[in-house]
Amino acid sequence: MADYHQRQNTLTWSTTRITVLEYCNKKYFFNYYPHALKDVDQKVRLDALLLKNLKSLDMRMGEKTHHLLSDYLKALKKGEITDEKIQELKQWIAAEMGEEFEISKNRDYSAGYDREQRFGLSEHFYGEDIDGAFEGAIKKVWNNLDAFIESEWNEKVQEYFKKAKTVFIESPRQKDFESMKLKLGSIPELRNINVMASPDFGVIFDDKKYLIIDWKSGQEKMDDGVSDQIKIYALILILKNGILLDDTEMVGYEVYLPSLNKIGGKITKADIDGIIEKLKEDVEYQKQFLIDGDVFKNEPLPHTSFARTKSEKKCASCTFRKVCQELKELE
Ligand code: SF4
Repeated sequence: MADYHQRQNTLTWSTTRITVLEYCNKKYFFNYYPHALKDVDQKVRLDALLLKNLKSLDMRMGEKTHHLLSDYLKALKKGEITDEKIQELKQWIAAEMGEEFEISKNRDYSAGYDREQRFGLSEHFYGEDIDGAFEGAIKKVWNNLDAFIESEWNEKVQEYFKKAKTVFIESPRQKDFESMKLKLGSIPELRNINVMASPDFGVIFDDKKYLIIDWKSGQEKMDDGVSDQIKIYALILILKNGILLDDTEMVGYEVYLPSLNKIGGKITKADIDGIIEKLKEDVEYQKQFLIDGDVFKNEPLPHTSFARTKSEKKCASCTFRKVCQELKELE
C-alpha cells in the first residue's frame, strides 16, 4: 500500500504542466501543490483549491468542442450519423453547457471550496456579467463541428474507419488517467517520472503507417513544424508498440477549428531524439522546485521559492489572482 501511495505522488510531466511552469512559477505552485499551503494559511489553501477547479468560459468552450467532436466521431464510426443525430448532439451539448452555466452563475463562491461541487466559471467567481457571451460560446462550439463536417476531414475519417486497422478516438469526458501514464523505463533520467499524454485521434493503417491528430480550438500557432505535444504522442506509440521509425511512416498534425488549418507533418528520428532531450530538461527544471529534488516524495519547496511573473497582462487574466494577492499579504 505504501509503495502504491508513493507511486501516486510521483512527479508528473505533461505539456500543460510544463507550460504553466514556464508561464508563471507561482501559478504552477497554486495549480499543482495547493495542499502545501496547509501550514501557511487554511483560507488561502481552500481558496487555491476552489480556484484550481474553475475554468474560464473560453476554456470551457474549447473543452466542449472536444466533447462534441468526440461524440460525433464515435457516432460516425458506428454509422449512426444522420441530420437528426447531428441536431441531437448539438442540442445535447447546448443543454449541458446551459446547465453548467446556471450552476456556476448561482453558486455562492463566498462559501469557499466545496469538494462535492467543484465546477464553476472563473468569470462568475470574479463577479463578471457574462450572460451576453454565453449564446456566442454555444454557437462557436456548434460552428466548430459544422466546419469539420463541411471539410475534407469528414470524408477522410470515414475512409479511415473503413480501411485502417485501428482508429482511436479519445473520450475527453471520461479521461482514463491511468492509461495516459507512460513510464519511460528505458531512459534513466525519466525512469521515475509519470509522463501524461493522450492524443485526440489516432489511426494505425497497418504496422508501418500511423497518423496522430490533435484538434485545437484556440489561437493558431505561426510555426508549421510538428508540435512537442504530437512528438510526445509519437514517442508513446513508439515505446508502447516497439516501433522502429526507420521503416515506419508516422505523421502528426494539430488541426485547428474552425479553420481546419493543419500544422505538422512527418515525424522523424531527430524529432523523437529532440523530444526525449526536452523531456529530460523539463524534468530537471521541475525538480528544482522540489525538496531535495526528490521526485518520489514530490514535495514542493516553500511557496516563496516560486517566483511571480512580472507580466501584468498574465496576472490580469489569471484565475489565481485573488489567492495570489492573499498570499502576497502574508509573505
Ligand atoms: S496572478 Fe500573476 S503572479 Fe499570481 S499566479 Fe497568476 S500569473 Fe502568477
